[in-house]
Formats: sequence, structure tokens, C-alpha cells
Amino acid sequence: MNELLNTRRAQMFPKLSAPQIARLESQGVRQATQSGQILVQLGERPSRFFVVVRGTLEVILARPGDHEVFNVLEPGDFTGEMSMLRGSAGMVSIRVGEAGEVIAIDAAHLRTIVLTDAELSELFMRAFILRRMGLVSESSGADVRLIGSRHSGDTLRLQEFLTRNAYPYENLQIEDAPDIQTLLDRFHVRPDEIPVVICHGESVLKNPSNHELAVCLGINPSVDDSKVHDLLIVGAGPAGLAAAVYAASEGLDVRVIEIMAPGGQAGTSSRIENYLGFPTGISGRALAGRALSQAQKFGASFCVACEAVKLHPERRPYRVDLAEGSSIRANVLLIATGAQYRSLDIDTPERFLGAGMYYAATNMEARLCEQEEVIVVGGGNSAGQAAVFLANSCRHVHIVVRAQGLADSMSNYLIRRIEECQNITLHTRTRITSLQGTDHLERVSWRSETEPEDRQHEIGHVFLMLGALPNTRWLQGALALDGRGFIKTGPDLGAQDLSAAHRALGRAAYPLESSLPGIFAAGDVHANSVKRVAAAVGEGSSCVQSIHRALRDLTQNL
Ligand SMILES: Cc1cc2nc3c(=O)[nH]c(=O)nc-3n(C[C@H](O)[C@H](O)[C@H](O)COP(=O)(O)OP(=O)(O)OC[C@H]3O[C@@H](n4cnc5c(N)ncnc54)[C@H](O)[C@@H]3O)c2cc1C
Repeated sequence: MNELLNTRRAQMFPKLSAPQIARLESQGVRQATQSGQILVQLGERPSRFFVVVRGTLEVILARPGDHEVFNVLEPGDFTGEMSMLRGSAGMVSIRVGEAGEVIAIDAAHLRTIVLTDAELSELFMRAFILRRMGLVSESSGADVRLIGSRHSGDTLRLQEFLTRNAYPYENLQIEDAPDIQTLLDRFHVRPDEIPVVICHGESVLKNPSNHELAVCLGINPSVDDSKVHDLLIVGAGPAGLAAAVYAASEGLDVRVIEIMAPGGQAGTSSRIENYLGFPTGISGRALAGRALSQAQKFGASFCVACEAVKLHPERRPYRVDLAEGSSIRANVLLIATGAQYRSLDIDTPERFLGAGMYYAATNMEARLCEQEEVIVVGGGNSAGQAAVFLANSCRHVHIVVRAQGLADSMSNYLIRRIEECQNITLHTRTRITSLQGTDHLERVSWRSETEPEDRQHEIGHVFLMLGALPNTRWLQGALALDGRGFIKTGPDLGAQDLSAAHRALGRAAYPLESSLPGIFAAGDVHANSVKRVAAAVGEGSSCVQSIHRALRDLTQNL
């Protein structure tokens, strides 16, 4: 936080001018403040945000017991960060320093300002985003502590969940902190019960599921899901995020559910270099974070750690059941569940997942194998990017592919970079035959077509970049799929694919509409998709036009 504060203080804590304060006053109420008064309590959903008129406010980022004031707000300053627009639990407390006066504005009026006042919208959005980035970078005082081990796949899962959801937390590994036992004793935790998360300084979650952790953190807004939403988007990868931005900005009531974190596959990419408008590349996380803030600015509500497990296609509004037991109804659905990584076709021990075997190559994984030898399996662009990225910090990177070369499957620019890297070796016509180790991967064997026997290597890190299978099993046959399980849409649907409900409408399926009227599919999950960020974003945005038509059909009883 301090570094960000030093370099971008003016944008994080901009001073409001007198005319700006006057505009804000019309949306809020003046309120006198008393010294020591708590206006916002850490961990609670902030219902109001404050502009300082007289006196001061202290921003406190702290666990109980070690109250740390990291900023003092003076007249012309304002409170708030992204939680305010997301409706999630706040990450700081706000206490009155010197008594005075504030303008209090509730969340609904703040949204009105952000949507209607271009100057204040830009100022608030930038400040809120930078403040959240500052909180994420200031992990040492964070109110959430993850105590785990380098050799535990569940530790990596929880790290990934918190990191990808931009949630500030302190990361403690038993291997690095010998005095950690004292902390564990304080919370009555045995070493064999880690990973544990100490949430808001008091609740101890022993190896929680992502959903349990999300509930404890208050990461999701409270939304009335008993009502019927206009649009339910399942999956918040680039396609789902783009649809959320366009649909919410065009006034639809948009609900988005996502198993893991916004960003999807793209969110795991260390650097996307071919997405229009980012000549120096952009990390998947940064792209996802911006898109999420944009969608939330327009009022789309997100639920992370929410998995769709069943679609009820019988009648409208459509109903989708969630893994934790509840369900959501909507007049129109967009399925943007993308695809999931393919594994090796050998008996791959699941215990190595996150403990030597990875499906993503981001900074988190790269830190685990610094200066070590690693293997990247696969010949597509994601494998190429991973290899080039890992070559920066690893001693040596082996790319293992079954094909004769990379030319048929990888972009030219990546092939050239791989050729230029001294510490990358390409092994063609080769396949992995076994992974071995106890708790952590220790040895990998591979066999080349040119050699009769397996070769064993003392390598403890394998990155599987083998392409993807569609996430459509949860649909349980409710929609027409192609031979590989991708959802058929629009002109790909034959007469035999269309449901009776669709045939009764007497119209062709709209672009990206599935075999059921009012259910759309965009991005990697639909048949014959291009499998690129830009294509997913384009489809997510463009299908909103068809979504409006499908909603109109409903009101006209078509
Ligand atoms: C490492 C890597 C690097 C890449 N690099 C590039 C690149 O440089 N350039 C490029 O153009 N493309 C790149 N790609 C491909 C690109 O990321 C994908 O084409 C794009 O992300 C597809 O977007 P999507 O929204 O369709 O699906 P996804 O990104 O797959 O998102 C789908 C989302 O749905 C969620 N989901 C799945 N099932 C459910 C369910 N039942 N309930 C709730 N949520 C669910 C998933 O958790 C996921 O977040 C890369 C892919 C990877 C893996």
C-alpha cells in the first residue's frame, strides 16, 4: 500500500472541488460526527459512503488488537473502495478523528452518481480500484490469514481463490515461519489440520471449501434470488463478463454466477499479448479485474464460489440449481462456462495437483519453482506462453509434445521466442509416462518415439497445457450438443436439434441461441468457437442484442 500510496496518492485520494461536493450533496445528507465514532466497521457491508466536510476520518486496516491508522481523510476527501459498488463486506474501518461534518450517501445514490456524472464516475472508479489494489498489496496487516504449506494442494487452491478474487490476505507457510505453532496453538489448530484460514481475526476455518470461505469473508453481495432476474449468466470468463457489462449497461437486471473467480481461463494467463488495445500485453487478472469493476459499476451482481449443477429446462422462467442447495430463476440464460483443462492420459495422481502438477502458469506457480527445472506439456499457445514465462525464473524449461513440432498448433511469434530462449528445450514426439513422488511430485518419466525405454528425470514441477473440454456436463442433456460436448447454437442447429418449445415459436434460432428459446451460449463453450479472448468478448457482447429480442418475445407471448 505504501508504495502505491507514494506513487499514486493523488489518484487514490483525490480532493473533491467545491462544485463536485455540491453535486454530491444533492444525493446525500449532511451528518455531524463525534470524535471516536465508528462510521464503517471492518467486515460489515458498507451501506453508506462519506465525504468529509469538516474534521477528519481515520481509515483503519487492522485485526482486532492492532489498530493501525494508515490514512487520515481531511475536508474534500471521501471514503470507499470497490466493496462499496460490489456490495461485499468492507475491508477497513472508518473512525472519526477530529469531530466535524460529513455528507453521507447510500449505495443506491452512489450508483446513480457513478452512472450519470461522468467526471465523478471516473474519479471514484479510479480511486476505488486503486484503493483495492493497495489493500491487496498490503498483506501484512490483512484481516484474513491463510496458514498453509508449500506441499499442499488445498493451500494452493485457497491462495488461488483469494488472489484471483483480489481479496487481501496474509499468507503464512509453516515451512517459512518456525514460530507459527504459537499462532496455531492460540486457535487450537493441529499442524495436520492445515490449511486453515483465520477469518476476521476470530473464525477458524479448517481446510474450508471455496464456498465456505466466501461466506465467511462476505465476498458476495446479498441479493434477493427469490425474484426472477432478466438474465442469469453462468460463468464469468471473458464471454460472461462482456455480456454482463453490455446487458447491465443497457438496463437489464443481471445476475452472474461463477465457480472460482472472474476471468475464467484468461484469468490464469500471465500475459495476453494479442488482445486488441494492449500493445505491451495485459495479465489475465488485470483484464478480469477491470471488466468486473466495469460490470459492477453498471449494477451486475456477482456470486463467486457458486457452481451451477442443474438446469431445469421445462418451463420459463428457467431455473438453475446451485451446488450449495439454492437456485436462481431468470427469463433468459447465457451459458458461458467455457472449457476445462485436459489432463494426462496416464493415471495422474490427484494429490499432485498444486503440489508439483499445475494447470496454470502465473506468478503464484512460478514462485514455487524458482531456479528449478520444470516441464510444460502441450504444443498450443497457452503452452508456449507458459514456457516463455517460466523461462524467466526457472533454471530450465522442457516442452514435451507428441507432435513432430509446434508449427501446426502454436503462433509464430511464440515459436520464435522459444527458439531464442537458451533455457528451453523442445522434446517432440515424446509423451509423459508417469509422475512419481509421495506428497509432492518428485520424478517424471517420459518416452520418445525414437527411444525404446522411458527416461526418468528428477523434476518436481509439471505444467499441463493440453487444451480443454467443454464445461457442459452440468447441463445433463438439456441442450443440443455437438459430438465433443460443445453447445450447438444458431445456424449450427439442425431441425432435429430444436426443442418443441423452439419449433412452436416458428422462428429460426437467434445468433448464439441454443436449442431452447431464450438460452444462449457464448465463448469457448459453444460449438465451433474460436477459443480466443477477443472472440469470447465479442460473442458475450453481441449476444446481448439477441437477449433483448428473446425478452421481447416473452412479453409478446411468443
Ligand atoms: C493459460 C492460458 C492462456 C491463454 N492465453 C490466451 C491469449 O494470449 N490470447 C487469447 O486470445 N486467448 C488465450 N487463451 C484462451 C482464452 O483464455 C479463452 O479462449 C477464453 O478465456 C474463453 O473465455 P470464456 O468466457 O468462453 O470461457 P472461460 O474463460 O473458460 O470461462 C468460463 C468460466 O465459467 C466458469 N464455470 C464453469 N462451469 C461453471 C458452472 N457449472 N457454474 C458456474 N461457473 C462455471 C469457470 O470457472 C470459468 O471462470 C488462454 C487460455 C489459457 C488457459
